[in-house]
Amino acid sequence: IRWTEGRGWHDAELVPYGPLSLDPANMTLHYAQEIFEGLKAYRRPDGRVATFRPETNALRFQVSARRLAMPELPAKTFIEACDALVRQDQAWVPPHGGEASLYLRPFMIATEVGLGVKPSNEYLFLVIASPAGAYFPSGVKPVSVWLSENYVRAVPGGMGFAKTGGNYAASLLAQAEAAAEGCDQVVWLDALEHRWVEEMGGMNLYFVYGDKIVTPELSGSLLAGITRDSLLKMAKDLGYSSEERRISTEEWRRDTENGTLTEVFACGTAAVITPVGVVRSASGEWTHSDGRTGEVTGKLREALLDIQTGRAEDIHGWMHHVS
Ligand code: PMP
Repeated sequence: IRWTEGRGWHDAELVPYGPLSLDPANMTLHYAQEIFEGLKAYRRPDGRVATFRPETNALRFQVSARRLAMPELPAKTFIEACDALVRQDQAWVPPHGGEASLYLRPFMIATEVGLGVKPSNEYLFLVIASPAGAYFPSGVKPVSVWLSENYVRAVPGGMGFAKTGGNYAASLLAQAEAAAEGCDQVVWLDALEHRWVEEMGGMNLYFVYGDKIVTPELSGSLLAGITRDSLLKMAKDLGYSSEERRISTEEWRRDTENGTLTEVFACGTAAVITPVGVVRSASGEWTHSDGRTGEVTGKLREALLDIQTGRAEDIHGWMHHVS
């Protein structure tokens, strides 16, 4: 679907997957005026297909668009575009059972040609899809994380809350540093004090204190994950309480060592929920799990996947039926 200044959204079309042809002076290529989303379609036990909370992705896409000075796509159009692609690609939605899905990637790029730094006067919104297998085909395995003190992902007043490519470009070097330190993922800290936990590379974090789950509050520099929000809403269903607040790295270490912090996990569309095992930083390391998934982490993971795959009743009205 195209957007042009003065004309708005127009020319929606469903075309076979293939390369885009872009002018070398296309503004996106130079100034990164680009936003995206990620969501999944699951096959239900009766063979129908449903996406998980697409209206929430549509609203977050509007939030990202505003921050990047791009036009807002109506939520209805966002959802209709995803539905049209899922219907076209029905055959690619994996069978019911397990965690496999069809991953959808809606995104928007600037298409004006020119090297002046200003918002583009035309845009292209696209959705592509790809089948996605289970994130952990041989069983859920805790990730090891590196607390990044040399780099920050987002600053106050920046774009941390938007889902835009630049945030991920800023994370690549830190991710390489984490790998060099023997860790799977980076944990981002706040930009000012390097002390407050924000999020992981592509996931939000949760801290389990007995039967309470705690997640860093939305500071403006971390992404408002849809999985994060779903878990806040689901906690009560499973008899847990929940809290959004600031959590420091000192607290993380101290509460692990004194045994009050019983589990830590990360959550996001791709892996759903991943336990955190080893936590490493320049000033030392500590460990959460001896290779197992904690009880609360496991229960939340199952409960969420049960809703997404249609094994459990959709009590929150989160599933959007496409076919
Ligand atoms: N934080 C970042 C930086 C991410 O890229 C993602 C993945 N979209 C998340 C958190 C988790 O968000 P969601 O639950 O909506 O997938």
